Amino acid sequence: MNARSIKGGPEFCHSYTTLLPNSFYRYQKPTSVRKPNLLILNTDLASSLNIDTMWLSSEEGLLCLSGNQPPPNTKPFATAYSGHQFGMWNPELGDGRAIILGEIFSPSGQRFDFQLKGAGDTPYSGMGDGRAPLGAILREYIVSEAMAALSIPTTRSLAVVSTGERVARQKLLPSGILTRLSKCLIRIGTFEYCSRLESPSKLKALADYTIQRLYPHLIKSHNPYIELLQETIEQQARLIAKWQAIGFVHGVMNTDNILLSGETVDYGPCAFLDDYQPNAVFSSIDKHGRYAYNNQPLIAQWNLSCLASSLLPLLDQKKLSALVIAEEYVNAFDEIYNKYYALEMAKKIGFTIANDDSSKLIEDLLKTMQEQKLDYTRTFRTLSYSLNTDTPKLCENHEPTPLTKWIQHWREKLWQNNITMTTALNTMQAVNPIYIPRNHLLDEALAAMTLGNLQPCHELIDCLSSPFEHHRQHSKYALPPNNKNKVVKTFCGT
Ligand code: AMP
Ligand code: MG
Repeated sequence: MNARSIKGGPEFCHSYTTLLPNSFYRYQKPTSVRKPNLLILNTDLASSLNIDTMWLSSEEGLLCLSGNQPPPNTKPFATAYSGHQFGMWNPELGDGRAIILGEIFSPSGQRFDFQLKGAGDTPYSGMGDGRAPLGAILREYIVSEAMAALSIPTTRSLAVVSTGERVARQKLLPSGILTRLSKCLIRIGTFEYCSRLESPSKLKALADYTIQRLYPHLIKSHNPYIELLQETIEQQARLIAKWQAIGFVHGVMNTDNILLSGETVDYGPCAFLDDYQPNAVFSSIDKHGRYAYNNQPLIAQWNLSCLASSLLPLLDQKKLSALVIAEEYVNAFDEIYNKYYALEMAKKIGFTIANDDSSKLIEDLLKTMQEQKLDYTRTFRTLSYSLNTDTPKLCENHEPTPLTKWIQHWREKLWQNNITMTTALNTMQAVNPIYIPRNHLLDEALAAMTLGNLQPCHELIDCLSSPFEHHRQHSKYALPPNNKNKVVKTFCGT
């Protein structure tokens, strides 16, 4: 029996509502739900943040995580933002179903927004019901935590609560609430919202707050706003390079879904590549492939141009000079992104730095993978096994035969670059996962959940929490889909 006493909930702070003008948010309490039940609690994340898991699992904790009665030290609010959705301007967005209770601090002093997603309607809900289907909430929990375990910057998921209520979508579905944590939920769309406010002082207040919150080292720079643009470009380039390297397709890279913090946010119809097809699109709403896998870097740059144009009045007092600065910085994205991408991909084939050899090897490898429709994740992992025959095999056919010639060439190049087999193996196995949240695995686990069986979700979460290690009892989760269970379309499920 655990004799530990319940400490109580986290301390909540309120810098957003204290330091920003009230046009950036509206106070809004969550709407109570009928029969809340704590389905999943991320005890590792809670412990790392020093939040008492006994409290989170208690009656009081449930009142907080369900939004039924947030603790007295919270001041719930919804944020305002605009955005470009599939390239179309939408001034009227904002948190339509997500409510921030306040900010908490990690033991190292990192501030996190503590948000309930699916917590009821807000002044920004429009025609929406402010709720989210439980399946979509669980999907976000599983994928965001998998991303964190893969060392990809992301919002985190602390808990999933079922509500005992249903939401009307194509059919009636059980609804859920996700407790989501982020270093800061300010989006490119939050800056775009300033064009609606038509107030240079409010734009400045938002930029100053963002800098203070996310990049305080920039405060003393000559022009902190140019530096903010530069830093955001750097963070986006780094993030997208990681997405590409892991084979992640976000699916809805609208400017309201891009955080200045460089964290991945809003796991709607996102998906992971199975076989390597660079123009892969999974989202059922992405009719023209705007957010296809190979388009993501270009779209990131387009999104950053939206941020740059929102920041223009702060970049230089003279309009023309501001435009020149914006253009110069946004154009530099390509080079920054290419540098990150080359390194991420070099590591996948055992190189510790990127050079002409690693880039040419990657180019040739991807070409063959595309022609042969090889599984993206499995090919890289399996290649590492070909360096060391002593390593346990994942399955019998562990060397992709169409690559025999490439492997020979690759080994020569490793040798010429003075990279030992051990270094290459260790480098590769630290970045090439065995397990990713494959689309068919998510679908199967969520289908079981709708029948009342959460076990597959728990197994998947467990596997994905250490994706580079073998989980002997769950080795089936390492397998690509077959023709029958392959998922080619994903749905937003909002
Ligand atoms: P998303 O696709 O989740 O990024 O949402 C796009 C916009 O629609 C955001 O402003 C959301 O707050 C809003 N939204 C999505 N679903 C709902 C809902 N069920 N109720 C109210 N607003 C919603
Ligand atoms: Mg969104």
